[in-house]
Amino acid sequence: TSIEVPKTMKAVQIDKNGGVEVLQYKDVPVPELKEGQVLVKNEFIGINYIDTYFRAGLYPLPHTPYILGREGSGTVVSRHASAPADLQPGTRVVYMGEHAYAEYTPASAKYTIPIPSSVDAKVAAASTLQALTALTLIREAHKVEKGDWVLVTAAAGGVGLWLCQLLRAVGARTIATASTQEKRKLAEENGAEVTVEYHEEDREAFTRKVVEITGGEGVAAVFDSVGKVTFDACLACVRRKGSMVSFGNASGAVTGFALGRLAAKNVKLVRPTLFNYIFTREEFKGYADELWSFITNDKLNVQIHDVYPLKDIVRATQDIEGRKTTGKLLLRP
Ligand code: NDP
Repeated sequence: TSIEVPKTMKAVQIDKNGGVEVLQYKDVPVPELKEGQVLVKNEFIGINYIDTYFRAGLYPLPHTPYILGREGSGTVVSRHASAPADLQPGTRVVYMGEHAYAEYTPASAKYTIPIPSSVDAKVAAASTLQALTALTLIREAHKVEKGDWVLVTAAAGGVGLWLCQLLRAVGARTIATASTQEKRKLAEENGAEVTVEYHEEDREAFTRKVVEITGGEGVAAVFDSVGKVTFDACLACVRRKGSMVSFGNASGAVTGFALGRLAAKNVKLVRPTLFNYIFTREEFKGYADELWSFITNDKLNVQIHDVYPLKDIVRATQDIEGRKTTGKLLLRP
């Protein structure tokens, strides 16, 4: 069985790396399914900061032309014979992968899972890639224990607000930073115990403040996604035998790190990606189930900044790159 699908669709495609001017909203053919794929009619598409790295060229494009976007939710309209049996046409699903900025996406069945009836498509698209990043970071990059002091940067962003909420749910004590007073307040409302201002020109003051809050010891773990401009100040906040988890590059990549610096406090340095924590479909399903039960049982907020029409991709991208957003940005085809 399959549902009728048109020959062409709207999508956001790029032919080369560059600024927002390379984002083209246009008609393209609906893709043919390959081995192990299902075709999903997207209802909501998640925007993630990583989309900007692929557009700008920080991460290499696998090919051109290329349709951006790494997560979405919607309905399976057809499946390759090799796809798992729980992905029949008509099934509501969420997926992570490639080419989500479109009406239809050929999603890898391995990273496509049915959405439980208690979760709607909007919540699913808003709480997959970023929320699973936060959950796997606090479980695996550094296993956070109850009572641990933890530092989170960009705490009012997509991943940041999930970190604040999940850390509160597991009983950790979060120190958060974000660029504006409103953003820091939002981080507090979502679970941060204390917020601290960060100014690049006065990094020492930031570190001193964080260390002072923890009673002079430093934090058990830092979860930093800003990268280049915050790395040094954050590393200096880690306590003896703590972890420096560097998982993003919003301000540029961290390069040229001298390993010997870790010896000062026997710090563990981790540079993880979500895909290596949810490598198998079982790992993906296991973490998604845990997350959905956090959302329902611990009543976590799914913070949605806005839902933009897919054709407004330039405006949405300018908003996230311009640091104007909090929580999740979604697109609607
Ligand atoms: P966010 O919603 O957090 O948006 C990015 C935020 O980064 C901004 O709101 C801004 O917050 C902050 N920022 C700091 N410096 C800059 C700068 N120079 N330019 C722009 N923004 C800046 O995005 P996501 O939640 O999608 O992603 C957060 C981070 O996590 C990204 O770095 C992303 O790459 C990373 N990530 C990594 C994953 C992994 O597997 N390793 C998976 C998912 C995300 P403020 O104004 O408060 O500084």
